[in-house]
Amino acid sequence: MLLDVKNLQAEVEETNKQILKGLNLQVNPGEVHAIMGPNGAGKSTLASVLAGREDYAVTEGSVQFDGEDLLDMDPEVRARKGLFLAFQYPVEIPGVSNKLFMQTAVNAMRAERGLPELDMFDFDEYAKAKIDLLEMRADLLERSVNVGFSGGEKKRNDIFQMALLEPKLCIMDETDSGLDIDALRLVANGVNTLKTAERSFIIVTHYQRLLDYIKPDHVHVLYNGRIVKSGGFELALELEENGYDEIIKQHQDA
Ligand code: ADP
Ligand code: MG
Ligand code: MG
Repeated sequence: MLLDVKNLQAEVEETNKQILKGLNLQVNPGEVHAIMGPNGAGKSTLASVLAGREDYAVTEGSVQFDGEDLLDMDPEVRARKGLFLAFQYPVEIPGVSNKLFMQTAVNAMRAERGLPELDMFDFDEYAKAKIDLLEMRADLLERSVNVGFSGGEKKRNDIFQMALLEPKLCIMDETDSGLDIDALRLVANGVNTLKTAERSFIIVTHYQRLLDYIKPDHVHVLYNGRIVKSGGFELALELEENGYDEIIKQHQDA
């Protein structure tokens, strides 16, 4: 098993407001999981806690990633070990070129895996191969990290970074909002291209729309800090048809 989340409970660090209330999730290598649920359910919090963002405190439960205690690792270590979070609102880093930023990140990942460092020339070649694989243009590399990127460009960059870092588990928090159909397709093409027998994805999404392009193996409904229902792709279709009302009614007092 690649990811084993057991009884995860987490709160907002600043206010001690409990958001995750005993969440269980298991992901095997090569699986695509969709996490759906109404606004405020805790979907983004789950992504943030797995990535190790500081605003949240884990109060209970465990997370094993590739046989190791994930919660024990700093965010940088998690990334090096193969956990990738495509940020919902990525940070801008003025003055730092995307290329240098990614070369550093790729070399940190390679060091973790015992692979030799890539110098500038090797990295250029490596990056070009990924750009070709994704059928993308190379222009994003020369810009500052995320500065002035449009919504679509940020998505393109997320997918490109994912390809460069060759993660074991990609967590994507997609609000879908503000994403036009081209950007959705771009994300979906990226996922479908980068999917392997070992690489897994957790795709957080409020709407079913993205799943028209990415077929998940498992669909989960997150509500009130827990996964309250799991199923196959048919669950996404059912939610598209009926919305979350029935599930909310059933689990309101839980
Ligand atoms: P979702 O992504 O499912 O819409 P979130 O994980 O963003 O839900 O939020 C779940 C709940 O936790 C919401 O009520 C939200 O207001 C609250 N919350 C999340 N993050 C914070 C934070 N940093 N500070 C205060 N409240 C937060
Ligand atoms: Mg606290
Ligand atoms: Mg969210």
